[in-house]
Amino acid sequence: MDKNAIYPGTFDPLTNGHLDIIKRSLKIFDKITVLLALNTQKKTLFTLEERINQIKNVLISENIQDKVIVDCFDGLLVNYCRENDINIIIRGLRPLVDFEYEFEMAMANRELNHNIETIFILTDQNYFYLRSSLIKDVIKLGGDISNKIPPSIKDEVIKKIKTF
Ligand code: ADP
Repeated sequence: MDKNAIYPGTFDPLTNGHLDIIKRSLKIFDKITVLLALNTQKKTLFTLEERINQIKNVLISENIQDKVIVDCFDGLLVNYCRENDINIIIRGLRPLVDFEYEFEMAMANRELNHNIETIFILTDQNYFYLRSSLIKDVIKLGGDISNKIPPSIKDEVIKKIKTF
């Protein structure tokens, strides 16, 4: 049977930091579901549909589209896991900032569903300070971050920021 895991997030937009976590997860798991929450508290630059399309296009250009499902969900992550018979959640971990929040989330999810395990993959040294919000700020101010974001998504951020 395939070993599957869920990689949940906002991905507003997907960065090379996220992509790195996806690719490294595929060394451990046969299939990864990149899962976007429908009801996020966060105000996003891109709509859910835009983010899903961006991720799908990047997966095609990386030729990993057959191993990665992109989906969205409304409600509790643990319920999505249960409904889809997946009990591994993957999260990327950057130094300092992520730990407390991720610790709480992992504890809460396991409390809600004892079968769930959260696995943390440490960020790559090239991406340890990379956040989607930083990308948007740097692009807005005209900085070059080509090595931190897939080219197709960079173009979309530029286009979107211009129309704002
Ligand atoms: P969320 O809003 O759920 O934190 P994000 O899209 O910001 O969603 O992040 C999704 C996951 O990817 C989280 O586990 C986050 O820690 C991880 N992540 C984000 N940026 C990086 C990065 N540069 N390197 C490694 N992991 C990252």
